[in-house]
Amino acid sequence: MKALAVFGNPISHSKSPRIHNYAIKSLGLNAFYTRYLLDDEKDLRARLFALSLDGANITVPFKKQALDCADFKDDLALKIGSANTLLVKNNKIYAYNTDALGFLQAISSFKDIKKALILGAGGTARAIAFALLSKGVDVCVANRSSANLEAFSFCKTSLYDDLQDFEFECVINSTSAGLNNDDLPCKKELLSEILKNANFAFDVIYGKETAFLKLCKSLNVHCKDGLDMLLWQAVFAFELFFNIKDREREIAQAMYEAIALK
Ligand code: NDP
Repeated sequence: MKALAVFGNPISHSKSPRIHNYAIKSLGLNAFYTRYLLDDEKDLRARLFALSLDGANITVPFKKQALDCADFKDDLALKIGSANTLLVKNNKIYAYNTDALGFLQAISSFKDIKKALILGAGGTARAIAFALLSKGVDVCVANRSSANLEAFSFCKTSLYDDLQDFEFECVINSTSAGLNNDDLPCKKELLSEILKNANFAFDVIYGKETAFLKLCKSLNVHCKDGLDMLLWQAVFAFELFFNIKDREREIAQAMYEAIALK
């Protein structure tokens, strides 16, 4: 039986055990998936071995440590600088990042994007930036402060206050603004100016209609929340855990059903 888990802090809210266990049952696999609250990132590697896990998802705030503690690092995870999926095989840890692929799948209905603006410069923004660049999209990352922008030397960057270009087909909110409040990621006037030219918008936050999404809707911009990204990163992680291919739709269907359960 495979033993799987998600590590984070906090972790009690995580939907990962529910969606993975539901998919495990639906596909008739022999495994279980549980959750672990981690206090100290330095314990991650030892905990994976002590619990005899075969794989794990890693969430906030340990994704960078997940990459650092691994013996083998997938190219995309290395570029992004963080991992959300770990496999344990023969006493070695293998690190992957499925957030980028999950994002691309989530926006697959967004057509003809040549230029995209990412709001926010954290770990999620890096995954999204590499995902878009891999599709040949011209990416600009804008943020409220400069420190985190320094990690984006591979694309255009700007402080919100210095932004000169307002023409983007797609605008992505990758900040946590709006997660626990009604804040917008930047000033409403600036965001409205940018959204007026956009065809598509995406908010990484899921489970609520954020102020960002409300503004997009008021300006008739086609928009999505982050639920599909969450779901598809889980589908791709699941495929890695079980080394299965070509059953994406079946896994996704099971995971959608799990999320719909009350
Ligand atoms: P980080 O802490 O790495 O980065 C947060 C970013 O948001 C920084 O750029 C920060 O700016 C900015 N920010 C935070 N608060 C505000 C605010 N009030 N106004 C404007 N900017 C703000 O976070 P992550 O990248 O790890 O996560 C970001 C979001 O993505 C979270 O809400 C998380 O839940 C969500 N997420 C969703 C996923 C999904 O599957 N849908 C997957 C992973 C994450 P500064 O640099 O100035 O501090």
